[in-house]
Amino acid sequence: MFNRIGVIGAGAMGRGIAQLFASSGQQVLIYDTRAEAIDDAIAFNRNLLQRSVAKGKLSEADFEATMARMQPAAELDALKDCDLVIEAIVELLEVKQKLFDQLEAIVRDDCVLATNTSSLSVTRIASTCKRPERVAGFHFFNPVPLMKIVEVVRGERTDERYVKGLVELAEAAGHFAAITPDTPGFLVNHAGRAFGTEALRILSEGVATPQQIDRILRDGPGFRMGPFELFDLTGLDVSHAVMESVYEQFYHDPRYTPSFIAAQRVAAGLLGRKTGQGFYRYE
Ligand code: NAD
Repeated sequence: MFNRIGVIGAGAMGRGIAQLFASSGQQVLIYDTRAEAIDDAIAFNRNLLQRSVAKGKLSEADFEATMARMQPAAELDALKDCDLVIEAIVELLEVKQKLFDQLEAIVRDDCVLATNTSSLSVTRIASTCKRPERVAGFHFFNPVPLMKIVEVVRGERTDERYVKGLVELAEAAGHFAAITPDTPGFLVNHAGRAFGTEALRILSEGVATPQQIDRILRDGPGFRMGPFELFDLTGLDVSHAVMESVYEQFYHDPRYTPSFIAAQRVAAGLLGRKTGQGFYRYE
């Protein structure tokens, strides 16, 4: 169903999504409003794939073929022949709606528009589209090639054929696809409130340090990383925006109250690995 895929937003998520599908045999076009972000994403992916070649996990021929399938798009118009466009741009409803509006003027009627939103309503993103039935959530996790799960989010008006098509595409690329309804935070970021928001509450009450909480959750229940390590990997700006969005969408249910600690740290620019300091320091 999807041979030619456009990826919009060449940041942490977009570059991973581009690599995943180029590796799985699709033609991928990457677009970003910042041209340097596209170059960086392609260089980043080249470097990662070269490391796989060096480790003997990828042949030189497959490396060349994958890189050839991953191309920059200088203009949004270059995506006009895509079967699927996946947006991974900034997490702001109006910006995503505006992008889909621009895309609908460019792409074919049967091109599916997918959003990698973490926490915005897919139905609301689609609500300003002429053809909301072609809009679905396709929610990957960072880093995309390694985190082999994806949520395929069915908006209120999403056509079932497209939901099925996205599941098949993800599975062909080696990911487990969970179909989820369009509820706040979908499955992962809803369940994740207990993990992240509660950990921040424990911190704010002075019960334990980030190091202690991370260690206990790793060594006890066996999570791969603790909540503060995960905040630092994701970026606290992204995580805090998810916490605020889920809280809003559940009509301020106190269970989901975001943390002032997170708000303060975002204001201070202590976002995690990407700024060199979050709950931990990165040299
Ligand atoms: P990022 O900041 O790393 O990258 C976003 C990119 O989008 C930037 O390069 C920016 O230049 C570009 N961009 C912004 N507005 C644009 C526009 N109108 N048109 C084209 N390009 C535009 O962000 P990210 O962490 O990759 O997150 C992207 C999306 O994925 C968000 O919706 C986020 O909620 C979601 N998401 C993030 C994570 C994560 O762990 N970081 C996980 C799952 C989902």
